[in-house]
Amino acid sequence: MSNGNGSAPQGMEAVDVVVVGGGNAGFTAAHAAAVRGRKVVLLEKGSEDLAGGNSFYTAGATRIAHSGLSDLVDWVEPDERHGRTEVPPYSAEEYAADLAKVTEGRNDPELTKVLVEESQPTLRWLNSLGLKYRLMYERQAFERPDGSYLFWGGLHVGNVGGGEGLMEDHTRVAAELGIDVRYSHAAKGLIVEDGRVVGIVTDSPSGELSLRAESVILTAGGFESDPQLRREHLGEGWENAKVRGTPNNTGDMIAAALKIGAARGGDWGTCHSVQWDAFTATNESNRELTNRLTRQSYPFGIIVNTNGERFLDEGADFRNYTYAKYGKEILKQPGSVAYQIFDATLRPMLRTEEYDMPGISEEVAGTLEELAAKIGVDPEKLSKTVTDFNNSIDRSIAFDPNIKDGRSAATQPVKSNWAAPIETGPFYAYGVTCGITFTFGGIKSDTHGRVLDGQGKHIQGLYVAGEMLGGLFSANYPGGSGLAAGCVFGRRAGTLA
Ligand SMILES: Cc1cc2nc3c(=O)[nH]c(=O)nc-3n(C[C@H](O)[C@H](O)[C@H](O)COP(=O)(O)OP(=O)(O)OC[C@H]3O[C@@H](n4cnc5c(N)ncnc54)[C@H](O)[C@@H]3O)c2cc1C
Repeated sequence: MSNGNGSAPQGMEAVDVVVVGGGNAGFTAAHAAAVRGRKVVLLEKGSEDLAGGNSFYTAGATRIAHSGLSDLVDWVEPDERHGRTEVPPYSAEEYAADLAKVTEGRNDPELTKVLVEESQPTLRWLNSLGLKYRLMYERQAFERPDGSYLFWGGLHVGNVGGGEGLMEDHTRVAAELGIDVRYSHAAKGLIVEDGRVVGIVTDSPSGELSLRAESVILTAGGFESDPQLRREHLGEGWENAKVRGTPNNTGDMIAAALKIGAARGGDWGTCHSVQWDAFTATNESNRELTNRLTRQSYPFGIIVNTNGERFLDEGADFRNYTYAKYGKEILKQPGSVAYQIFDATLRPMLRTEEYDMPGISEEVAGTLEELAAKIGVDPEKLSKTVTDFNNSIDRSIAFDPNIKDGRSAATQPVKSNWAAPIETGPFYAYGVTCGITFTFGGIKSDTHGRVLDGQGKHIQGLYVAGEMLGGLFSANYPGGSGLAAGCVFGRRAGTLA
């Protein structure tokens, strides 16, 4: 046993399955075990009013393979726009290729195969239990001049009510299935007998508690909320990143699993991080604003640092394939701050939810020079950057936000798509910094979530899913795969546990 003294405490409460961590992966695992008639206890570190982990903060966007609208309309919520909507098919092969592309081939092939093949069946199963999904018009499609809609970027389905809706649905379903959810229970260690995990030790409002279980499923998130662990594993400077989601994912259960011999899985040196409101006072773990603090319409404008210089290709790909690696690029800039710049023509295209956020870090000015002064950038430098950019745009190609339009700006760095001149006042600047989402390194398992030790053998009785399961992502990530992975591998773990 790992709770200190080598033997399990006497007279402890016994259940079939203990799930540690009450986010999307944990609840999915708990449902899968409960529908099989298992007696399930779910332990959640957060209090009830601060529950739901990172999953609560999400937009609910969930990446699944499908063969087009006809494959979705029978289970997503009805919408009067369906009749004039085009949803390009997104095959399992495309999904796998996207994962391989953005991770530069470092995604585990076996986990990937399961994720892409089971993503849609798993969401259909969750829908049959009571989770509600919809097409995400406002985030992943643009209305065309004839009133029709075209979806882009392989990410089409999301939870009704976003992450809050997702966790409300999960909590309701858990109650219906008789799952015993215990908030303010921070698990501390695994109980091991004869090499098998047989229970868990947890803090609780009434003191330390030990639970005996046939199976323990760990879904307690990554270590993104611990500044020291970030610095240790991601590198210097990462201690300054803003935590987008729950403050509770401090790697407790990763440490507990490693302590009993679990192997590390995935890429411990990289993480998911995005452009995030730099100056709003409460820009960490904010449960009112949640994901509204993110700034994801950058592919249409330019991003400059405090020297007034561009430093990345804003239009390298659809936002869904670049956003998760651009937080890191902002972290590297002077003061870890940059500004997204748009003009009056582009402003109406920005995501309302994000750019109309109350209290947003926004500066507006009639001229670029005035804008530069407001954000503390040398006006001459900003004007030169914008002029060079405007002059290098290939205006023979039409601007089209629904496709990779190839309308490039041949300047340094190049902008590969959606290059639109910044020329019509008023001009807008949005201050962004690096917001960390989750870490990619975790615990190693087989494709059923069975935790492996350093020799590749199963640690009996121990499962892992969600952010805690390492191996799928590295350096970058296709938007919507985190929730999908939690659903698929959470269900798999709960089906065996
Ligand atoms: C702002 C934001 C927006 C996002 N948007 C999306 C999106 O739209 N689509 C998408 O796919 N992904 C999105 N993500 C990523 C997504 O949140 C994660 O991939 C996913 O939610 C992880 O689910 P999980 O269940 O593994 O972890 P979590 O939801 O974080 O749950 C882990 C839980 O474990 C608990 N815990 C931690 N330690 C202990 C302990 N010792 N004992 C008991 N409990 C413990 C935590 O309190 C937490 O509730 C977003 C993340 C953030 C922060």
